[in-house]
Amino acid sequence: MNPLTYEKATSSTDALERHDGDAAKFLGAGTNLVDLMREGIATPTRLIDVTGLAQSIEEQSDGGLRIGAGVSNTAVAEDATVRAQYPALSRAILAGASAQIRNMATVGGNILQRTRCSYFYDVAGSRCNKRSPGEGCDAIGGFNRAHGILGVSDSCIATHPSDMAVALSLYDAVINVESDEGTRSIPINDFYVLPEDTPDIENQLNPGELIVSVDLPAPSANRRATYRKVRDRASYAFALVSVAGSLIIKDGLVVDAGISLGGVAPKPWRAIEAEAAIVGSPPTEETFRNAAQIALADATTQPGNVFKTELAQRVIVAVLQDLAGDAQ
Ligand code: SF4
Repeated sequence: MNPLTYEKATSSTDALERHDGDAAKFLGAGTNLVDLMREGIATPTRLIDVTGLAQSIEEQSDGGLRIGAGVSNTAVAEDATVRAQYPALSRAILAGASAQIRNMATVGGNILQRTRCSYFYDVAGSRCNKRSPGEGCDAIGGFNRAHGILGVSDSCIATHPSDMAVALSLYDAVINVESDEGTRSIPINDFYVLPEDTPDIENQLNPGELIVSVDLPAPSANRRATYRKVRDRASYAFALVSVAGSLIIKDGLVVDAGISLGGVAPKPWRAIEAEAAIVGSPPTEETFRNAAQIALADATTQPGNVFKTELAQRVIVAVLQDLAGDAQ
């Protein structure tokens, strides 16, 4: 048993003052952190409970939306403005976990949840570079059906498990953080870092920084968006492949396209080149198939997850065709 203290913060300032180094951790709902502690992967000696803080969803003067980091996943998914203006976000959250977990889990915790690679959690029996840098990776050459094919490295092929973050990536959300040194804002598409040879480093957050809110830019007129998740069972399963997609079609041509992939990479994977290939073209199956091939052109597969390349291409095409059909 590891001794630890538990403290309840009364404000973000109070939480930051209580955070005194790497041995301290902010605790949201604990839907991932507590699992990590049970397995001995996370070993904080001081837990600073930030539940109850940052609970609001507020429309901004520029037409955007600010979502507090402590808002539950369910509250975001059910918010009337989110459902109307950011439908892919609502759908993505509802595709994640179970209703019970969504009721507990917070926005900040969802963003920071760690991979569900089974070797990562098998502390006693498996090698894992993310858990123990330099140890090796038993997923490479092991059972890797759920692992990544984009942005992976020779050190780690884990995927990021969040559905919500994929939709936040589509909408170019910005993560606001506070620390003793002030505040800063990080675009979610820059927030996560690829594993390369340091898979233990997963994002740009510095020790002692606290996520306080997420900003969604003002919605674009006539932008249609959705989220589709493919998984091994109908609920309570992580994505094999997911796609958050959006289109704006005007006068028979695509004038704006968005594609963000989940279940295939260590981070929400924006397919920027594929998006660019669609813009200016008619919204046809041929256009979307070409974009899907571009999106997966750099896929690096393992024997167990070769199927993901074709699956991701098919889901991209299906999502974009649905959006194009809705627009006509
Ligand atoms: Fe660890 Fe990454 Fe390998 Fe999984 S894929 S065992 S998380 S190094």
